[in-house]
Amino acid sequence: MTAFWTEPDFDDHEMVHIVRDRNSGLTAIIAVHSTHLGPGAGGTRFWHYPDPKDGLRDALRLSRGMSYKNAMAGLPMGGGKAVILADETRTKTPELLAAFGDAVEGLGGRYVTAEDVGISEADMVAVSKRTAHVSGLPVSGDNAAGGDPGPFTAMGIYLGIKAAVRHKLGKDSVAGVHVAVQGTGSVGGGVAKLLAADGAKLTLADIHADRAAALARELGGRTVPADEILSTPCDVLSPNALGAILDEQSIAALDCAIVAGGANNQLARAHHGKPLFDSGILFAPDYVINAGGIISVAMEYLARRDGTGASVEDVHARIATIPDRLEQIWAQSDSSKVSPDVVADRMAQELIGRA
Ligand code: NAD
Repeated sequence: MTAFWTEPDFDDHEMVHIVRDRNSGLTAIIAVHSTHLGPGAGGTRFWHYPDPKDGLRDALRLSRGMSYKNAMAGLPMGGGKAVILADETRTKTPELLAAFGDAVEGLGGRYVTAEDVGISEADMVAVSKRTAHVSGLPVSGDNAAGGDPGPFTAMGIYLGIKAAVRHKLGKDSVAGVHVAVQGTGSVGGGVAKLLAADGAKLTLADIHADRAAALARELGGRTVPADEILSTPCDVLSPNALGAILDEQSIAALDCAIVAGGANNQLARAHHGKPLFDSGILFAPDYVINAGGIISVAMEYLARRDGTGASVEDVHARIATIPDRLEQIWAQSDSSKVSPDVVADRMAQELIGRA
């Protein structure tokens, strides 16, 4: 048997906790990458992995990503991620969620959970019956921090695109700037609306073509088929669908000055940051520009834990610092001629004491 710490994705994680509860059928992996800045925070993924090793890889890779994201957002949180290994029928019972809540509680606050793929707000409410170390719960008041992170993520991306346009194109406004948006769901749709209100020119695409078309009608943009959006001539390409979209082939076909969007892990492999940089395109590292949602989720958790309360304004004030972080990255990248993704990783490693 190969030891999991020889996995390429193992990065001296502080803790990898395997949970097995025969009564409820729960099998889960909770990975805490770093608690250097605070409790390891990151969502729970509920997914069927034909090979459980892929679940372990996801937990390792995603928890490290959360360490970097939380550090760069200036949050007093480390990085963690849980993966519940669903069976083939993807059965999710109250007993299973209760057992998972008990496992999180057993870690005494070293790991804080929230929603991720396959886990709903209702699931988190069920988990919260067994542990206080949970976030992404329904908001308790009109102006209280929390709730759906999508609009907060969209706001951070919108501000990041404005900063990129300033940095690369020397323009103080996005009026008349052509933005191609890939994916018009919760995040991409929100970004498109904010940009449209500022007079940006929009081209939208979604694999659900009717979704993109309806938004284009509402906002006055045009649509292209989903397989044409990456090569659409534009000022800004904003990927808000899936990860791993930027590889040698797609980078060679890009016809934009800026890539700035919310999809996680846009570079297919780490080394793809270099050809993107060499082609003169300004890249906004995804885990920096898309931190609005985790900012909301983390502030909701901290306010509840500390009994302080946090308002939507507090969350927006923190999201408004995303462009400053991007500016820092781009300034270092410009002066060192190192691609922004590498600069961001180095900054994050420094912040979490892993430089
Ligand atoms: P969503 O499911 O609401 O929207 C995604 C949209 O992308 C859907 O409309 C889908 O049809 C479309 N899509 C999928 N594949 C496509 C393709 N190849 N071409 C064009 N469109 C395609 O999801 P979301 O919450 O908007 O998240 C979008 C991305 O942002 C994801 O990568 C997610 O991991 C990332 N993200 C989301 C948040 C958040 O707060 N929701 C936070 C950080 C990162």
